[in-house]
Order: sequence, then C-alpha cells, then structure tokens
Amino acid sequence: MPKKKPISTYTPILSNPIEYLKGVGPQRGELLRKEIKIHTFGDLLQYFPFRYVDRSSIDTIASLSGYEDFVQIRGKIIRMEIVGENRGKRLVATFKDDTGVIDLVWFQGWQWMQKALRENVGYLVFGRISVFNGVAQLAHPEMDLLTEEIATGKQFLEPVYYTTEKLKARGLTGKAIGKLTKALLEQMSPLEVRENIPVDILQQYRLLPRSLAYFKIHLPGNEEEFRQAQRRLKFEELFIAQIRICRLKLKRHKVSHGYVFGAVGTAFNEFYNNHLPFALTGAQKRVLREIRMDTVNGRQMNRLLQGDVGSGKTMVALLTMLLAMDNGFQACLMAPTEILAQQHFKGISELLQRMEVGVALLTGSVKGKARKQILAGIADGSIHFLIGTHALLEKEVAFKNLGMAIVDEQHRFGVAQRARLWEKNNIPPHILVMTATPIPRTLAMTIYGDLDVSVIDEMPPGRKPITTVHRTEYQRPQVMDFIKEEVKKGRQAYIVYPLIEDSEKLDYENLMKGYEEVKAFFPEPQYYISMVHGRQPADMRETNMQRFVSGDTNIMVATTVIEVGVNVPNASVMVIESTERFGLSQLHQLRGRVGRGAEQSFCILMTGNKLSQDSKERINVMVQTNNGFIISEKDMELRGPGDIEGTRQSGILDFKLADIVNDKAILDAARASAEKILEADTDLVLPEHQGLKDFLTAQRGKSVWSKIS
Ligand code: ADP
Ligand code: MG
Repeated sequence: MPKKKPISTYTPILSNPIEYLKGVGPQRGELLRKEIKIHTFGDLLQYFPFRYVDRSSIDTIASLSGYEDFVQIRGKIIRMEIVGENRGKRLVATFKDDTGVIDLVWFQGWQWMQKALRENVGYLVFGRISVFNGVAQLAHPEMDLLTEEIATGKQFLEPVYYTTEKLKARGLTGKAIGKLTKALLEQMSPLEVRENIPVDILQQYRLLPRSLAYFKIHLPGNEEEFRQAQRRLKFEELFIAQIRICRLKLKRHKVSHGYVFGAVGTAFNEFYNNHLPFALTGAQKRVLREIRMDTVNGRQMNRLLQGDVGSGKTMVALLTMLLAMDNGFQACLMAPTEILAQQHFKGISELLQRMEVGVALLTGSVKGKARKQILAGIADGSIHFLIGTHALLEKEVAFKNLGMAIVDEQHRFGVAQRARLWEKNNIPPHILVMTATPIPRTLAMTIYGDLDVSVIDEMPPGRKPITTVHRTEYQRPQVMDFIKEEVKKGRQAYIVYPLIEDSEKLDYENLMKGYEEVKAFFPEPQYYISMVHGRQPADMRETNMQRFVSGDTNIMVATTVIEVGVNVPNASVMVIESTERFGLSQLHQLRGRVGRGAEQSFCILMTGNKLSQDSKERINVMVQTNNGFIISEKDMELRGPGDIEGTRQSGILDFKLADIVNDKAILDAARASAEKILEADTDLVLPEHQGLKDFLTAQRGKSVWSKIS
C-alpha cells in the first residue's frame, strides 16, 4: 500500500530570506533590505501597492485632448523611424487605433526599443501626454503586448509599487517588484497566511479571510475586490493595535494596586461647602465623580483629563487633592514651568487660606534653608500639598505618603517622567494627567488608549467668547490703535512672534524688529513693555514675565515661550504675528491666554497680504470657532495625525493602510471588537482566539509595542 501523504505537506516559506526568492539573489536581496526594508518573503507580501492602474479603461486616440494626465490606448504600431541628428536623435513610432493615430517617442534607449518593438501587433500603451511642437505625443510610454486577458477587457487593476533609483538601476522597477510579488503569491499556499481575526468578527463585519485579502490587495480583479481587501487589512491593523492597547489597560487594572480613598471627609466638604468661589460646571462635577470611582476600587488610577484652556481644570485638581488629604495622604501638583507652578501655588494657597492645610512650593530656585525645611515637611507629612516643577521628581524629595500625583499640561512631560512619580511609593500614587491640548477622539483612542480619559467639555458660565479676527499688514496701524484703546481702558496685550525652525538668529531679528516697532507706537513712560524670548537668561525672562503678570507692563512682546498656562486675566488682546507660520493647535493655545477675565477679549491674527489655500483654511477655522476639539479634529485633517504633538516619535501611528482620520468607522468597529473579545477572554485562551494569540506572540519584539508595553 502506498504511504498516505500527511495532510499538510507545505513548508512555511514566509520567513525565508528574500534572496531565496526566484529572480532576487544576493545582490538584489541586499538592496531590497537596505532600500525598502524587505528582509523576507513575508515582508514582500506586506509591501502593498501605493496605487493601481485600471487596465480596463481604454482611451480612444480621437478623444485625447492633450490635457489628460495619463492615458491608456490600445492599437498597433504602423511605422517606426529614427529622426533628428546627433543628440536630438529619437525613435518615433506611429501608433494607430480605430479612431486615429498618435506618435510614441523615445529619446533614450531608442536603439533597444527599435529592436524590441514590432509593427502590426496589438499593444496596450500607457503613458503621460506631452505636447511637442504643438503636437500631442506620448514620450517613453509603457508598452505591453496585448494579451488575451487585456483584449477581452478582463484585465485586472494593475498594482503600482513604490521603488527607488537604486532599485531601478538593478532592474527592480515598480513593475518588477509586482512580478516578484505575483510569483510569490502563486507559489505559496493560502495556509501560509494564518487568520488572526476570530471568525465571528469576520462574519459580523463581512471581512475577507486574511489570505484572500493579501491576494486581492496585490492582484485585485476589479475595484470592488480591491476595496474589500483594503477594508479587511485596515481593520486588521486597527484591531491588532486596539487589542494590544486594551490588554495593556486590562493588565494595569488587574495587577496594579492602588490606595483606597474610602472617605469624602472634612477637608473636602469644608472647602466645597464654605470656600468654593463658584458653582462647579456639570463637566467638572462629572470628572470628579469619575475620579472618585477610580480611587475607591483598589486599583491605581491613571487618568488623562482633557479640557480646553480656561475650562477649570485647576479646581478639579484641587478638589482631588483634598480628597487625598481626607484619606490621610499627601498630594502633589507638578507644572512644566516655574511661573505656572508659582501661579498654582498662589491660587491654591489663597483658596485654602482659611483652612488648615499645609501647602508648599518647590522649584529649582528654592534653595538653602527654605528647601531643607520643605523637604523635612514633606517627609514628616506636615506638608499636605506640594506644588512645583520637575524639582518634585528629584530623589531627595521623599514623601511620607504620596497618594495623588497630578501633572498639569501633560504634553511638556514625557511618559518616562510620569513614570518616575510612580516610583515614589511601594504602592504607586494615583495619577491624574491634565492637558489643555485637546486630542481628537480617534487619536486619543490610539495613543492614550491605555489611559482612562475624562473630558471637560463645558466652559464656566458667563465667559464671553473671544472675538477672533484676521488682519493683514495693510491694517497694522488700525491694529495698533486698537491696542491703544484697550490699554487706555486698563487692559493688557500680548504680541506674539513665531519661532522659525532652525533659524534662531532670524527669530531674534524678527522679534527685535517687532519690538522696536511696538515701542515706537507705545513710548515710555506712558507705556511699558515686557519682552520675553528663549535667548534671555532664565532669571531675566522670569522678571519680565512677572512684571507683566503683576500689571507693571502693558504689553508683552514674546515668542511662543508664553504658550503654556500663563494666567493674566487682565490681558484682553492677543496679537499673533505671521499667523500663517503657526499650526492650528498652537494658535488655539495662544489664543487661550486671553479671555480669562470678565472683559471681552480679542485675538488678532496678522498675516501677509498673500495667503496659501491651506493658511486661509486654518485662519477661517480660528475665526469661526473657539472649540478646541473641533480645532484639533481640523488640525488632524489638515496635517495628518503624524504631526500632532508627541505622536510622531511614538511610532504607534505607523499603519501601513489604515488612517485614523479617514477610517474612523473602521477604528470604532475594531475597538468595539477588541473590547468584546477581551471582556470574554482576557488572556486569549479560548480555541477560537488561538490564531490571534499566536499572531500577537509572533509579532512581539518586532514592533514598537515591544518598546512601550
Ligand atoms: P484651565 O483648565 O485652563 O487650567 P483654570 O483652572 O485656570 O483653567 O480656570 C480658568 C478660570 O476659570 C480660573 O480663573 C478659575 O477660577 C475659573 N473657573 C474654574 N471653574 C469655574 C466655574 N465652575 N465657574 C466659574 N469660574 C470657574
Ligand atoms: Mg491650567
């Protein structure tokens, strides 16, 4: 009896080094690795086309206007001749279809083409139209012999692959890469590409099986097949990312121990009932409830609080600190700059002045005896609330029992710095990270998906929305007069200049020129001006800033160093110079420096007289809305998610196909699926999740995830 063949006879080939693929070899293999990071057969499979040429759409020669971008015609060569002299020599082929004739021209490699091309044989010609001496022609078109498939109109969408000059020089044109991929797809078993999405999800969202999707993304028969393949692969990317993020969060919830704040006690109630200067907004109350829930379940809180500038995050922070105190714990509040730390200290001390709470300020400039005293107070617990800068992270700052750490203006602090707060105790303190840089929902889900997120989406009542206008250079005198009016009323104004990347010198000159101009309009002793920029020594910068904060100066001329958090409620005008050079989020942050008091505030966006479409769009958004979330969505649309602060280096957004701006619906579905699966099977032990689990295991160490999780 002949031996029975085992059921699975294939040997896996996707991990084979690329040089073993027929038609590659060591030299091309080396280039593929270096130029486009293709190391294995599997990498080639994941090297997706960046566009497709529809080989089924054929133009007729008579219909060509000469203004088309690319054209595709079907017919034959009826004559070839060499024309021109010396370096102008070229091959001209007269090409005919049923409707007319057009010239195909080769200036280079024409000797070779003359030999390769045949007359009176069907060709499919693809190329760009150019006009030469008033006559339309196709220069260096792609020539394909008309095969049965093409002739009968059954031809597929032809994939086009990105390539480089070096690869091309070795014959690895986009087309050649396509041929390699096609050969690989033909020789490999569909079993090679193991499914990683559980079958009920495939069914629920009508997704193609993985192996078919890989086949069809490279070789789609038609538009619909391409769309389906792309949708499946986008879903996969987002789904896998969400599974990882959600697992991270679950793991944290499961393993982390946190202090239990069982009581809302005397300090909180005393403050809330007797010293709260205003009624909390609904959003502030909701966030406090969320924090409260987080701190009673025995796990460590890790919450991101997003709230537009002026939405009242500080009060949430203070009440949270009081909650910690009521449970016998210390709390700290960390700000990114000395000025901000001072402002928080001053504000919070005032609010608590009629209560018995030990509040201290610790920054780099607190030295000597004062510092020693504070360190002692932290260690013995007589200081309940410590407010400060990075100085809080230093080793010598040893709390008696830190239960709550709050970080303000999160984007200035790295993840690593946040983590150092954790190390301050055996059981890590609860962490609340506050940011005024709204992040689009989809982005938050992707990069902060492991944190719990709260949003303050409501402004305190009675705020007058800031009036934003766009003014050009022609209107500068009126703008200056307007500032004068406001200053006369006792208000203050900011005038902000952009930082020019890589040209500190130019920045400085710009700023100085501006300063001189402003000074000419606002001479001493009638007016006083503060100037703040990155080139000043820190103490001088502080002094200038302080003089503006205290109202000794009327006008602040500055570069974007003032962006974060400064609170001068009396300032009512923000003039932004060269607005076209700022990103939307940054403009919004700057605008948030005014509108903090009871007065009507103004933001004046200065630009040159000519503007690009993109700048116009950004300025329109600013003029039309004060809502930071709308602005952040728009910013992401205009610039792409990779440019939103802090995301590029993270690498988390490096999707091959998916795009969180345009694929929101897929992202939502992927998120919901990931949550559903992990809820039922956190450790992925069920047999129907084996494929997914194996995939995650195989990926470990290969991606950015190994670095952050
Ligand atoms: P941000 O969220 O930008 O940190 P702040 O906490 O500095 O905002 O608050 C901005 C201003 O709004 C402060 O002067 C603060 O006292 C005030 N404020 C905060 N919450 C309320 C509220 N519920 N009602 C009225 N004013 C409020
Ligand atoms: Mg703040």
